[in-house]
Amino acid sequence: MHHIGIDLGGTKIEVAVLATGHRVLWRERTPTEAHSGPERVLDNLRTLYRRAIVAVGQPAHTLGIGTPGAISPLTGLLKNSNTLCLNGLPLQTLLAECLEHPVTLENDANCFALAEALLGAGQGHRVVFGVIMGTGCGGGIVIDGHLLVGPQRIAGEWGHSTLDPAGPPCACGRRGCVETAISGSGLEARCRERFGRELGAEAIFADPDCSALVEDFYRDFGIALANVINILDPDCVVLGGGLSNLDDLYTRGVAAARARIFTDTPTTPILRNQLGDSAGVLGAALLGKASLPQPPGV
Ligand SMILES: [Zn+2]
Repeated sequence: MHHIGIDLGGTKIEVAVLATGHRVLWRERTPTEAHSGPERVLDNLRTLYRRAIVAVGQPAHTLGIGTPGAISPLTGLLKNSNTLCLNGLPLQTLLAECLEHPVTLENDANCFALAEALLGAGQGHRVVFGVIMGTGCGGGIVIDGHLLVGPQRIAGEWGHSTLDPAGPPCACGRRGCVETAISGSGLEARCRERFGRELGAEAIFADPDCSALVEDFYRDFGIALANVINILDPDCVVLGGGLSNLDDLYTRGVAAARARIFTDTPTTPILRNQLGDSAGVLGAALLGKASLPQPPGV
């Protein structure tokens, strides 16, 4: 049985086919072309999927798709996706119809966590908390190789825990969420607010005039992560997304977290991801594998 994964992003769609043993047999990407509307996005996705099937000899397969945003368990409609034209659509149903195959759909942070837990930095750890710190801030929890999704499908959504009820407005409609403090977009908004300057996240970290902002960033990272570790006590945390490339995250950031973990001897490893950009598509492929019925007793 093969496992096909599709990473449906705001700018590109990527497909990978995994064989037994997680060997990547085929992998390719195409532009999403979200500006041309949902029909074009689904057309592009279907074309790439069909090419994948032809390329590997039309095998029996599972199909998993990862995308930013969340499917409402009540309505089945997608929300908070950065592929704006897909918001408000019943994406799971549309994808299954369009691809004529059952689909397992999850958000990109859950795909990241699953891939890093099974194939990346979290290998060998029982409970893995995967964190994405990029434009936004997401997370996913994997326990014994399985995603924890939760009855409301919000497990791991640490990006929208409140750090400061009087803090800046968040894209979710609330104020002072973790995402407003330690995501790229949140940091840029704080720089605008505090200094009246339009700087990208990378420039903020390099600019000595922004050192107070950077100080707050590492403090807030520590508070937010320690809050999760105190509840979940994961065997490891794996960091992903553009901001996870900051070397200081693994020194200053980790020290800020350890100072707030409720034990005198905090040991939780806080690790850099190993799969980079590949985690999304590999995690999507692993979603389908996880959806297969397990043999009795397993
Ligand atoms: Zn929020």
